[in-house]
Amino acid sequence: MTEITTENYLSEAKRAIKNQVLQNALADLQHRFGTETALAYQNLPEGPELRFKAHDIRMHTIDNLDVILDKLAENVRKNGGHVFFANNGKDAIEYSLRIARKHNVKRVVKGKSMVTEEIGLNSAFIESGLDVSETDLGEYIIQLAGEHPSHIIAPAIHKTRNDVGKLFSEKMGIPYITDPAKLTQAARKALREKFLAADMGTSGCNLACAETGHITTVSNEGNIRMATTMPKVYIAFMGMERVAARLEDHDVLIRLLCRGASAQNMATYVSYIGGPRYPGQADGPEEFHLVILDNGRSRILADEDFREMLCCIRCAACLNVCPVYGKIGGHSYGFTYSGPVGAVVTPLLVGINKAKHLCLGETLCGACKDQCPVDIDIPRMLLALRSKLAEGDSVWGVTPADRKEKSMYRAWSWMISHRGVYDLFLKMAAFGQKFLPQKEGMIRWLPPPMNGWTQSRDMKPIASESFLQRWRKGS
Ligand code: SF4
Repeated sequence: MTEITTENYLSEAKRAIKNQVLQNALADLQHRFGTETALAYQNLPEGPELRFKAHDIRMHTIDNLDVILDKLAENVRKNGGHVFFANNGKDAIEYSLRIARKHNVKRVVKGKSMVTEEIGLNSAFIESGLDVSETDLGEYIIQLAGEHPSHIIAPAIHKTRNDVGKLFSEKMGIPYITDPAKLTQAARKALREKFLAADMGTSGCNLACAETGHITTVSNEGNIRMATTMPKVYIAFMGMERVAARLEDHDVLIRLLCRGASAQNMATYVSYIGGPRYPGQADGPEEFHLVILDNGRSRILADEDFREMLCCIRCAACLNVCPVYGKIGGHSYGFTYSGPVGAVVTPLLVGINKAKHLCLGETLCGACKDQCPVDIDIPRMLLALRSKLAEGDSVWGVTPADRKEKSMYRAWSWMISHRGVYDLFLKMAAFGQKFLPQKEGMIRWLPPPMNGWTQSRDMKPIASESFLQRWRKGS
């Protein structure tokens, strides 16, 4: 598994907020994709309601996942491919290394894949002596920089053209340039040689179709098509939830995926890969393997509260509207998945206590649900996670929040349900706040334990009259 640094969420978030370059990049990303994606849904021939149909399609698949995965495996094998069900990342890595050794593989080209990022495939391959190259431009930049992606579909969003110019000059030995077209040309040239020399290709899988036994990859650069067809061996990796039962369902989801991911009606390259090449065919791998990964997903599937999260098709639309992601960027989340999807999936995959800041950090504004192409109710699941953190949960091994916090909320709950006590509290607080530092009508500092609130924002003082008092007076 890739490195997990979810405990550093608060310090990384603070650092990100102070990084003006990152702030500009995130604002630009959200400005462009946030609005355009909503428009792309509006322009669907079926209207934005297609998102609700897609939700039903996904839930039906998730509720029948065992049968649908069996069908997928059966049809992939019928097409001449091999299927491997991996319980965890270690199994998936060992299987792919066996394939690599069998074919005496030295060089691997990779198409973009979050699931291989999740299991740390690159480092495992490199430790085993393989020469691995990412081929998506953003992923290539990240690999050269020795970093992890900070966005599901725009992995190098945190880098400026100057950063990339310096990086290419240092790592590729070319003169320092900052023109994006020339930088892309330089990467294209370097990658072309890698494609030609590769013995094995790997990629993720945007969606698989059980009815036909094919997998689908979507890209705007054409690199995945080359990584999947040029080398003689190809391994596709998919999370076990990324499947549609019927071709008809699959096509609805692909149309929504492209709109959710990049506000396009359809991505530039959409490849349906149905197995190895047939005798006499010019293109395609001689051997096709599909690795279907569990890695904690069965546990999510077994929980009624969270199985809806398996509907996710990893389009990143929720990142592009999330006010929290828009300020702290992807690296603060400390694992492969960031933004609202990461705030739910990461605690479920790596441990709810370990990644508690992620679900506590979101605002519950609901923008993620409204923008999600499959209408996943992320806010509901964030609340379910918070409830487990407050009360503890033996199934998920969650230790409850500290007693002090819990007693505080109990006292608060008791007070607000007793009108007289609450009014008395308001009177005392209104009097006490006069002694707190204020500027331009806002309180600048609160004493512990409320001081967290005023660390990065001011607080509006309590009004001299409550709403109820004004209501009674008719003002
Ligand atoms: S939760 Fe929805 S919007 Fe977010 S990545 Fe998944 S499918 Fe896309």
